[in-house]
Amino acid sequence: MSRWEVVIGLEIHTQLATNSKIFSGSSTAYGAEPNAQASLVDLGYPGVLPVLNVEVVRMAAMFGLAVNATVAKRSIFARKNYFYPDLPKGYQISQYELPIVVGGELFIRDDAGDEKRIRITRAHLEEDAGKSVHDEFEGSTGVDLNRAGTPLLEIVSEPDLRSAKEAVAYMRKIHSIVRYLEISDGNMQEGSFRCDANVSVRQVGQVELGTRAEVKNLNSFRFVEKAINFEIARQIDVIEDGGVVVQETRLYDSDKDETRSMRSKEEANDYRYFPDPDLLPVEIEDSFVEEVRRSLPELPHVKCARFIAEYALKEADAEILTVSRALADFYEEVAKTTAGDSRIAANWIIGDLSALLNRDNIDIQDSPITPIALAGLLDRITDDTISGKIAKEVFDGMSTGEGSADEIIAAKGLQQITDVSALDAIVAAIIDANPAQVADYRAGKEKLLGFFVGQVMKETGGKANPGQVNQLIKQKLS
Ligand code: ADP
Ligand code: MG
Repeated sequence: MSRWEVVIGLEIHTQLATNSKIFSGSSTAYGAEPNAQASLVDLGYPGVLPVLNVEVVRMAAMFGLAVNATVAKRSIFARKNYFYPDLPKGYQISQYELPIVVGGELFIRDDAGDEKRIRITRAHLEEDAGKSVHDEFEGSTGVDLNRAGTPLLEIVSEPDLRSAKEAVAYMRKIHSIVRYLEISDGNMQEGSFRCDANVSVRQVGQVELGTRAEVKNLNSFRFVEKAINFEIARQIDVIEDGGVVVQETRLYDSDKDETRSMRSKEEANDYRYFPDPDLLPVEIEDSFVEEVRRSLPELPHVKCARFIAEYALKEADAEILTVSRALADFYEEVAKTTAGDSRIAANWIIGDLSALLNRDNIDIQDSPITPIALAGLLDRITDDTISGKIAKEVFDGMSTGEGSADEIIAAKGLQQITDVSALDAIVAAIIDANPAQVADYRAGKEKLLGFFVGQVMKETGGKANPGQVNQLIKQKLS
């Protein structure tokens, strides 16, 4: 057992999926020509005034309600002052002392597989900065302000996480929630969902928190895990070598799989926060909160519990199937359509279908096999037209557009041989051809049953009903 305990708190930045920016009417669509979507407000021209997009208030309230937080009746936008080329105003509008979402919680599985509560400190609204473009101009840096003013919800956790795995589990939960709520597309490659990880270590039993380092701007679950694990090992090394961890901001280099110091506490900015005089306090009426509450969709943990109850799923399977709304909807349509076992439907989606989609990098919404088509396949297993093994062959055909399960079964003649006399003859031939095995079986080597079944399945191209074959062989050999 290690004598070190790891402590992690995450600050997750989620871009909110509004059409226009938080304080201007510019589009937030990703991928436009640089600076094509930057209005005078986003460019920080003097004399312009920000106007709050009410949609972000609604989205923040949705998130707050979804994690059992308080939606503040009054919150304040503040100016966070610092200089950077991609921040033309010289300050970022954020919320500081009075954020819109206060408190909250969610539940993850810890490393032992038990349910663990993670407290959320707050979630506040702010504007995203622009982007510095370093690699396009020889010897100089470009500035793209399309992202400037894109709404962000920054979700801050308490330092309740105890390992890189827990941090990832927490981040995945938040990711799942914002996507269920449809308040963010959660696209990590495009930077719509990223986090800063605050990491410290302390000796087991120590009460005070250790000094933390903050690893900035992690934009994949894998990088979060790797950066945190690097940081844990680094900090333990520093202390065990007699040094002290300094409070600082670090950057993760994914090529070298290491974090590097960006700036120390002494060099940290003093942001001189103060309430933005151009923006009124955000005041929210109870009726608005109630209206938002009524609009909430079924949340992942509620759906998961319902799937366990309604479809008799194992908890682990229900958790996988409710990670995204699209996957859950897909499953539910299959389960409702098929006459067969809803647990077998779950196995097919988690197993073969997910493998296919992963391999070809396809979203579940674009699955080449529709829920109705998959249910059609499962029904042929249920009514014994084909075995589970042949079903895989049919599934492959369906995935490449060969037709429905029924069409493929008919075209390839894959239906099981249920004609007992035909099977009988095949079994008899196999027994005749293998006298030594027959003798061993009769002498008590019952394991050989598998050998005979295998021979029959081979002879029939897998089209015999395995249960029936078992029975026939036992009968003939006894
Ligand atoms: P700041 O605003 O300076 O980044 P906060 O106090 O708001 O600092 O904390 C930011 C994040 O750091 C929170 O998620 C919090 O849980 C986490 N945190 C604070 N102290 C520690 C620590 N000693 N070790 C790990 N995480 C910490
Ligand atoms: Mg921070």
